[in-house]
Amino acid sequence: MAEANQSGQLGQGGERRNLRPNVRSVVLLSGGMDSCVCAAIAVAEARDSGTEVAALHISYGQRTEARERQAFLAICDHLEIRQRLIVRNEALRAIGGSALTDVNIAVPEITGESAHIGQTVPVTYVPFRNAHFLAVAVSWAEVLEASQIYIGAVEQDSSGYPDCRPAYYEAYNQVIRLGTKEGNISIVTPLIALRKSQIVSHGLELGAPLDLTWSCYSHGDGAGDAACGVCDSCVLRLRAFQDAGAADAIPYTVRAVSAD
Ligand SMILES: [Zn+2]
Repeated sequence: MAEANQSGQLGQGGERRNLRPNVRSVVLLSGGMDSCVCAAIAVAEARDSGTEVAALHISYGQRTEARERQAFLAICDHLEIRQRLIVRNEALRAIGGSALTDVNIAVPEITGESAHIGQTVPVTYVPFRNAHFLAVAVSWAEVLEASQIYIGAVEQDSSGYPDCRPAYYEAYNQVIRLGTKEGNISIVTPLIALRKSQIVSHGLELGAPLDLTWSCYSHGDGAGDAACGVCDSCVLRLRAFQDAGAADAIPYTVRAVSAD
């Protein structure tokens, strides 16, 4: 499946009608909280430079793909991102090996202190997923002649995924330099050193639509479902809002982290 809006026919106020849109950045937007804040940062920076952001969403057969796609579209609408591309990756689901892509592997429920989050690579890790996503983003950036790829990877407070480490992105940048026509595209990771609570605060300052995002690994197959509240992702999100002293507007079945 591929849906694209790359025509560039609708210039703001008509001033760029029929001209190629001036896209400098591609942002990977899953529809989750981190990628939403990352997109809001990319849009703010693009606005300052008079350029546009293009948003890329990749479905990969994950449990919550329909709900995440819905979040992607709503965030794009809110941030007024016109250039959108939705693609499907069939490899990750076919390969499996993750609780997100294999229905036979349960998404763990976090109870109690949940201090273990981030200490080992969890079963929700999708093997080498970000490399697939980045590869698509680089291909699209080459075609759009964009020079930056934004990704909302977070190292601190994260689930402990190896493809969220700064050294990984440094190495990937080298791959892009050596493997693309112009060699001038680089990955931007504005959130990588932030704590989750800082991401919430920063997102709220920027007016990022956190209420439109979807983080739950487990629930969300039907529109309007509540997030589970007990998977890694829900727990990290609820903690982040709590630490930021902010209210999380999305519905939860259970709140494993008590809200103030
Ligand atoms: Zn959840």
